[in-house]
Amino acid sequence: MKILIVGSGGREHALAWKLAQSPKVDDIFVAPGNGGTAGIAENVPIPDSHVPALARFAKERGVDLCVVGPEVPLVLGLANAMAKQDIPCFGPDAYAAQLEGSKSFAKLVMEHTGVPTARSATFDDYDSAKAYLDKHPIPVVIKADGLAAGKGVTVAATREEAEKALDTCMRKQSFGMAGERVVIEEALEGEEASFLALCDGKTVVPLASSQDHKAVGEGDTGPNTGGMGAYSPAPILPESELEKVCDLVARPVVEAMAASGHPFIGMLYAGLMVKDGAYKVLEYNVRFGDPECQPLLARLDSDLAELMLACVEGRLEPSMIAWKPQTSCCVVMASQGYPGSYRTGMAIEGIDEAEELEGVTVFQAGTKIEAGRLVTSGGRVLGVTALGDDLKAAKERAYEAVDRIRFENSYVRRDIGDKGLAR
Ligand code: ATP
Repeated sequence: MKILIVGSGGREHALAWKLAQSPKVDDIFVAPGNGGTAGIAENVPIPDSHVPALARFAKERGVDLCVVGPEVPLVLGLANAMAKQDIPCFGPDAYAAQLEGSKSFAKLVMEHTGVPTARSATFDDYDSAKAYLDKHPIPVVIKADGLAAGKGVTVAATREEAEKALDTCMRKQSFGMAGERVVIEEALEGEEASFLALCDGKTVVPLASSQDHKAVGEGDTGPNTGGMGAYSPAPILPESELEKVCDLVARPVVEAMAASGHPFIGMLYAGLMVKDGAYKVLEYNVRFGDPECQPLLARLDSDLAELMLACVEGRLEPSMIAWKPQTSCCVVMASQGYPGSYRTGMAIEGIDEAEELEGVTVFQAGTKIEAGRLVTSGGRVLGVTALGDDLKAAKERAYEAVDRIRFENSYVRRDIGDKGLAR
């Protein structure tokens, strides 16, 4: 079969790498892809937000399954556009994608279905929001309702910071329409974990747990990034808890989407805050996390194409999913300066030497091929992923591989996995 993967990050390289291993898959297109996907699939120069062009391409080339990496195309209705062409899509329709695309929508669904989450209120005008904020204890969290590329959430430790965040959203309109509505919510304490589940519209099957490292600096300091590394499984969310968490945070939501006539097909991701064995949902995503996808797929023993087909055909079963017993750890090599400004165009060397190490796969993100050379083209450049018998071994192997790779101005956090090791 022919698969179109939409996106250009490390997650999409990992999806292409895993799908290419399936005997069911003949051809893979990646739109727009990166330097890594170019080596195992055909890159197609269509931006991931150009929904009509993607649907047209899929129809013309006889694509049998569309797999959507990032959230933006889903929120823009890529699954709906594919459905019009009778092309199955691994990813929810625009209505169900609001679980990620609108934080107030997600809050309403959680309230309606009884999913535990932070107490919150939603506002469409500045004056009422400010009046509410004035009475809210500090710390407090201010969230632009819509998608703001990870910049729309402020966990404010002071009243000034909270007021500034509200002003940025609603008066300065720095996030455009995404900030016209604002969710103000209580700040939760605890440790974050990622819970992902495959969904076929009615059946929900949890994946192994994982944990991301969002902050740019070691010890979770500095500004948030797209994610500086991840590992799986995460001891904070043991396998014995997965069914319970699924019943708590995923199955009720999937049932609610089905009841509203928009069955959720694809990956439902709940960002959890875990404290003293209790779980609260911080956010939903409607796709694989990046970088969580990389260590998860490194451990997945089952045929991913078969799993995705089972989702779009409504025949998913828990027995279809199997994991390697090892732990995986993915360390992101970034460009110095990210998530602020950084230089690109640096030649990358040493990927082959890194992959000579047993159990190591280097997933590429911000890379491209220029005049026959692999060069950096983004903030997060590589996701160096290693399997090991336990987290300590996986971490050591991942950093051994990192140290074999060179590009000018590279930056890594050296503590990926340490939270898990401390448990
Ligand atoms: P954007 O919408 O701008 O793309 P996002 O989807 O990444 O942002 P969230 O995941 O909702 O936004 O929040 C980002 C981070 O903020 C979370 O990973 C968490 O660290 C922190 N956060 C969000 N809500 C809360 C909360 N109620 N209490 C404490 N921390 C929170």
